[in-house]
Amino acid sequence: MNYHSTRNKEISCTAGQAIIKGLSPDGGLFVPDFIPEFSLDEISKMAQMTYKERAYAVLSKYLTDFSEDDLKNCIASAYTKQKFGTDSIAPSYRLRKGEYILELWHGPTCAFKDMALQILPHLLVTSIKKEGVNKEVVILVATSGDTGKAALEGFADVDGTRISVFYPNDGVSKTQKLQMVTQSGNNVNVAAVNGNFDDAQSGVKAIFTDKDFENLANTHNFMLSSANSINWGRLAPQIVYYFSSYADLIKGQEINCGEKINIVVPTGNFGNILAAYYAKKMGLPVNKLICASNSNNVLTDFIETGIYDRNRKFNLTISPSMDILISSNLERFLYDVSGNNNQEIADYMKKLAEDGKYEVSDKIKQKLAEIFSAGFASDDETKQTIKAVFDKYGYTMDTHTAVAYAVYKKYVSKTNDETKTIIASTASPFKFSSSVMQALTGDNSYGKNMDEFDILEALSEKSEEKVPKALQELKTKPVIFDVTCQKDELMQVIKDFLRL
Ligand SMILES: *Cc1c(COP(=O)(O)O)cnc(C)c1O
Repeated sequence: MNYHSTRNKEISCTAGQAIIKGLSPDGGLFVPDFIPEFSLDEISKMAQMTYKERAYAVLSKYLTDFSEDDLKNCIASAYTKQKFGTDSIAPSYRLRKGEYILELWHGPTCAFKDMALQILPHLLVTSIKKEGVNKEVVILVATSGDTGKAALEGFADVDGTRISVFYPNDGVSKTQKLQMVTQSGNNVNVAAVNGNFDDAQSGVKAIFTDKDFENLANTHNFMLSSANSINWGRLAPQIVYYFSSYADLIKGQEINCGEKINIVVPTGNFGNILAAYYAKKMGLPVNKLICASNSNNVLTDFIETGIYDRNRKFNLTISPSMDILISSNLERFLYDVSGNNNQEIADYMKKLAEDGKYEVSDKIKQKLAEIFSAGFASDDETKQTIKAVFDKYGYTMDTHTAVAYAVYKKYVSKTNDETKTIIASTASPFKFSSSVMQALTGDNSYGKNMDEFDILEALSEKSEEKVPKALQELKTKPVIFDVTCQKDELMQVIKDFLRL
């Protein structure tokens, strides 16, 4: 199967090339030439498969230029019990009959980014070998938190790669910082940038566009790449867990094969919910996709009105990984529902860049209404939801998952839809322990001026769940990276790292 750009069908390449390039040279995103399908019979067979086998079934339909051995090796290296703590990799927790929490956070950083970033390095290295590129890949990341750590964990000690992460000195939480500066691995590098996230991101972008640096890196056999969320190699692995969850529900006799389900996704950049949409197009029996936002509700308005308008106040919320006003992956969805009309998509994206706003056609509006329902939850509603679910079921959710659950409850009271429902859970509650403890105790000052590890302990006691090992270990892990650089010194940091 080949891939082409959402903005120009003439730009075409293999899956391996799409993964190496990340973004199409015209600024569009790579999409598969067609969406492959599964029959109900094939889906019912997944019930007896392991997560790795399900991953192979789904990914082999998209990465057709990978040999069976290569793809199986990538999957085997990524989804291990050692890294995810469970053979099921992404278990579905039954809250009650008809409501299932798809836990996507059992990976090494306790958040759902691991589902894709554990396998991406292997897909990338395989692609590079396959395309005959004889270079070591250097991944550069500017991070506002979760992605940097997940990328470090994914790339650490992967042969043929190096990774350098920059985080803003004022812009990540204490735990996030500790997670990064204690990272081990013989190919990793971490530095703080004196400034905010934009400073770190601009610095990294400047390196990517510097021709002299590219040439210098080239002569030393290095190739720069990024691991951001629009890479096809991050999206495709996310389709797997929707099939896997459905297969688990069949296996547990919670649903019959063919029975339609709803899927609720706490959404930021639109990657996770787009993967659910692709799963639906591939034949997964889905009734509604429910797009859940926090008070940065640009997507709620878009799905309800067909007008995308990013000209609004940016809110800092207790579900920070969803504090986003431009959802890049939406472009892939629009392209698909426009009937692969690249001119139409190019026009929308031009308007978005120029005016921060566009309105889609009536045809797309109708599709939006057919496929999605949307809603949002405020911080207060999110906290109330954490408390209510805990009191009723003894289950502790993180703030992002609680946004999804709150929006789901609003959907049910509006529609009386009793379709069985999977709620995507994107982070461990321990990752956002202060907010979760505030919700559970009702004390909004909880955790202020308290040691991070004491909060983890308190949450562990309250929730009767163990603190995840990866977070617990931070207390005693040695700090390996204590470099802080100025905004204009990022290039030097990379040069030192690569000994250029
Ligand atoms: C990244 C992230 C999201 C948003 O996912 P998208 O694919 O960007 O929509 C939601 N929750 C958590 C915890 C995340 O890290």
